[in-house]
Amino acid sequence: MIPPAFDYHAPKSVGEAIALLGQYGSDAKILAGGHSLLPMMKLRFAQPAHLVDLNRIAELRGIREDGGDVVIGAMTVENDLIASPILRARVPLLAEAPKLIADPQVRNRGTIGGDIAHGDPGNDHPALAIALDASLVLEGPGGQRTVKADGFFHGTYMTDLAEDEILVAIRVPAFAAGTGWAYEKLKRKTGDWATAGAAVVMRMGGGRVSHCRIALTNVAPMALRAADAERALVGQPLTEATIDAAAQAAMAVCDPAEDLRGDREYKTAMTGQMVKRAIKAAAARCK
Ligand code: FAD
Repeated sequence: MIPPAFDYHAPKSVGEAIALLGQYGSDAKILAGGHSLLPMMKLRFAQPAHLVDLNRIAELRGIREDGGDVVIGAMTVENDLIASPILRARVPLLAEAPKLIADPQVRNRGTIGGDIAHGDPGNDHPALAIALDASLVLEGPGGQRTVKADGFFHGTYMTDLAEDEILVAIRVPAFAAGTGWAYEKLKRKTGDWATAGAAVVMRMGGGRVSHCRIALTNVAPMALRAADAERALVGQPLTEATIDAAAQAAMAVCDPAEDLRGDREYKTAMTGQMVKRAIKAAAARCK
């Protein structure tokens, strides 16, 4: 299927891109990897008259350390996350989890920024960003502002981003020593979106959970932080009973849409299973 006609713009700087967004308003759409936007254009769900391609803006790519944070340019593609020595050393969850996203071709073009900015509850980076306590750097005509990933997602395809803003970077606190992590994603086949997914980041101290973040993929109109599930664990020893209580609390916040991946009951039950597996896998990495 061929998308409707559009004008194509290839700015060389963030400032130039923001000016184009200001000039064309709601007629313009940012183009990153195109792996979500172009299918939507082909299906006529999106019909932008202007595409503003960020691919020639070098400053939007790359992964660097800045104090205690790792800063990832929004146009960094999934395969570069997977290959990053900085991420493997500082935030290994973000080098491992993208291996579960789509297929090699998509991972070669699809960007972390596009995955987050799209606001698709089926995408994996939103829950990962929430579990990682990531901050998102947004730039518009008035300059930059930084918002927490937790709170950025308002609903399906709805985020904090204004029409004339660009997500320029993702800031992730480097893991403290002893941090355990896991992303468990149930999918029907390689390359599929999650039927249910759970990201867990945790630390233990004195035999009890001292820090815990749990976030869920594709079981509500947006990625969810499972705060009650976290509360069920923090301060507690890890036992089958506390893990089960966390899984139950996570299931209680699920509000999945029924589709070909399953009905609401199945997706909710699978969320519980993904949460249990992710907690156990993360705990095994707490050293
Ligand atoms: P684009 O498609 O170019 O853009 C997506 C949206 O975000 C557009 O509205 C665009 O205007 C906006 N946007 C992009 N970048 C920015 C920015 N920097 N600032 C502001 N707005 C921006 N994803 C998963 O997470 N998990 C999966 O399992 C998965 N499976 C897939 C399977 C297939 C077959 C395909 C085709 C895609 C799959 N995806 C999956 C989606 C894929 O990861 C996309 O690449 C991703 O959703 C969007 O990233 P993109 O760089 O391609 O963005």
